[in-house]
Amino acid sequence: MDVLYSSTRSKSAPVKASEAILKGLAEDGGLFVPDHIPALDKSLEELSQMDYRQVAYEVMKLFLTDFTEEELKDCIHKAYDSKFDTELIAPLAEAEGAYYLELFHGATIAFKDMALSILPHLMITSARKNHIENEIVILTATSGDTGKAALAGFADVKGTRIIVFYPKNGVSPIQEKQMVTQKGANTLVVGIHGNFDDAQTGVKKIFSDKELAKELEGKGFQFSSANSINIGRLVPQICYYVYAYAALLKEGKIRAGEKINVAVPTGNFGNILAAFYAKNMGLPIGRLICASNENKVLYDFFSTGTYDRNREFVLTSSPSMDILISSNLERLIYRIAGNDADKNRELMNALTREGKYAVTEEMKEALADFYGAYADEEETFGEIRRLYDACGYVIDTHTAVASAVYQKYVKATGDQTKTIIASTASPFKFTRSVMNAIDAKYDAMGDFELVDELSRLANVPVPPAIEEIRTAPVVHDRQCEADSMKDVVKEFLA
Ligand SMILES: *Cc1c(COP(=O)(O)O)cnc(C)c1O
Repeated sequence: MDVLYSSTRSKSAPVKASEAILKGLAEDGGLFVPDHIPALDKSLEELSQMDYRQVAYEVMKLFLTDFTEEELKDCIHKAYDSKFDTELIAPLAEAEGAYYLELFHGATIAFKDMALSILPHLMITSARKNHIENEIVILTATSGDTGKAALAGFADVKGTRIIVFYPKNGVSPIQEKQMVTQKGANTLVVGIHGNFDDAQTGVKKIFSDKELAKELEGKGFQFSSANSINIGRLVPQICYYVYAYAALLKEGKIRAGEKINVAVPTGNFGNILAAFYAKNMGLPIGRLICASNENKVLYDFFSTGTYDRNREFVLTSSPSMDILISSNLERLIYRIAGNDADKNRELMNALTREGKYAVTEEMKEALADFYGAYADEEETFGEIRRLYDACGYVIDTHTAVASAVYQKYVKATGDQTKTIIASTASPFKFTRSVMNAIDAKYDAMGDFELVDELSRLANVPVPPAIEEIRTAPVVHDRQCEADSMKDVVKEFLA
């Protein structure tokens, strides 16, 4: 059965997967959602005999039903190749009783590579399928990792341009260096004076600016998004949960059908939503543990049923989770509202107007799969140190938030279900914070000195993604105010 995609905010005509990927965001400002979640049509045992690419095909073919087998396999093979430093693509590391799903073995050493290494191929294929002649302009707001992963994916891809906005003072030094050294004539990187939410709001505004769209259409351009609001990002993220389950089964760590829990360090709610979709495809997942940092708007939402972004925005050591408007939550809200676009739109309007909304008691009950908790900075650093001291395994700050929250979860519930912790970034991407967590004495060292020291400590070679930026020249130094993002876009496309 074909899966069609409709907006979370109106009952407009549903579109095919390829059209949803091209558009990114629905015209009414809503997010595209599948009209149903397809069930896995291979057994867990069969999946356990497959490699990553084969599993990815089995999952993605069920969602992207207007892609041919040849098209989809071609995209998968171009994405999950030697850009990843391991054949496994997403290996599991067992440490202190939990399974860390390492999603950082791609080109930019964060989990965004899992989806962004395939999105450009899905996008180009979609354009071809829909006879699009326009150049596609990827517009992206980033809290640090999406930007580089999207740049790496789209740089020098024919028929595309990419513009990335990041909060000038809201990303790690390594993240910033990775972005501003990006090569490719079709790329533009801009630091905005504001936080991630300002960048994301600005991008959404440009997307829904019909006049601008018309003006650019005349010049042969159309916008799309590489943010996790694009269904072409979400679907590839479902694959690694299925793959991880299959890998545990293959290694005899679990029995077929045994439930596992999943803990996910969460910002924009894309990664954990993918796990929720995987569960709804029939993957035996018990609890979805939603881990926040000090920007704990999601924790508060799961405990009270009220989503309230009216609070101080905290800059933490896990910048990719410094978010107060978790865009993908809208897809969950739509679902627990009974797939009712009117109800969802009302709540989202309230969020825009008043910065908050409350779900009904009935809707709240439908959230029982989720367990929200958070870790503050001290707990996050403590978790990095605990794991390193116990077994020498070094995790990054984001992963540490999830790991600390998982510890809290076990303490609070006594639940001993085997658990996968999404390990979303290499510790080399957040070296200073990670090394300081292990020992305060490291604070005196330079950024790249720390990289070498971490390599010695963790007994892991320095990833090529870090080696590359050691000496790379800065090629982007543009900055702007949050309210002049549109002008920057127009100038780049003039
Ligand atoms: C983006 C990101 C997250 C948050 O993922 P969401 O899908 O936005 O919830 C967590 N950790 C890292 C390292 C990231 O880059």
